[in-house]
Amino acid sequence: MARKKIIAGNWKMNKTPSEAVELCKELIPLVKNDDVDVVFCVPAIDIIPVIDAVKGTNIQVGAEDMSFEDKGAFTGQISAAMLVDAGVKYVILGHSERREYNHETSEEINKKVLKAFENGLTPIMCCGETLAQREQGITLDWIRQQVKVGFQNVTADQAKQAVIAYEPIWAIGTGKTATTEQAEEVCKGIRECIAEIYDDATAAAIRIQYGGSVNGGNAAELFAQADIDGGLVGGASLKADFGKIVNY
Ligand code: PEP
Repeated sequence: MARKKIIAGNWKMNKTPSEAVELCKELIPLVKNDDVDVVFCVPAIDIIPVIDAVKGTNIQVGAEDMSFEDKGAFTGQISAAMLVDAGVKYVILGHSERREYNHETSEEINKKVLKAFENGLTPIMCCGETLAQREQGITLDWIRQQVKVGFQNVTADQAKQAVIAYEPIWAIGTGKTATTEQAEEVCKGIRECIAEIYDDATAAAIRIQYGGSVNGGNAAELFAQADIDGGLVGGASLKADFGKIVNY
């Protein structure tokens, strides 16, 4: 069965709750497309107003992170149960900005992936190499390691529902997009890695996004690749351009 494309915006630390609602009003008519899954991943404080603003549309709401703990004395954190109760469906885990600024390890990200599944959330697990790693020729080894650790103890049935976002760090927010060949090569490598961990059916079902300076001008070519099932979009998800990406 053909995989449905998934195009997710990562709003990062942008938009106050009232600005978020305004942005939803602007984007709702632009992102209508039932052939793809459209997700707005928004800051925690915007989740409830955004869920309210997109009610009755084709848009699903995602979080940008969550705790691997269930509840308790973890000041400032948000649990999977809280997200589910609010109506969240997806959660970005292991974004390179969290790996870098919050020192998140692949082991911690694995705990979050497991907790997301336990609660019925779909994880969008990010992986990606630095420019130095690409220049050293270790991109695929590095990504395979991030995927293997991130998916430890995840069952094949769960993995089939998961989303992996390949985001070369040097392409995030820089305006430098990976070439179509570079993006496809790594997404294909991730699918092969999933086939090794699980089986061909799991590899055929899992959705793999490309992320890194995706815009209305380059989305169509990227998403036409055999192993690229959509995009994780930062900067362009805050603008009308996101409509062009969704309707590539
Ligand atoms: C991201 O942060 O997930 C991202 C892909 O950002 P941008 O599209 O701005 O490069």
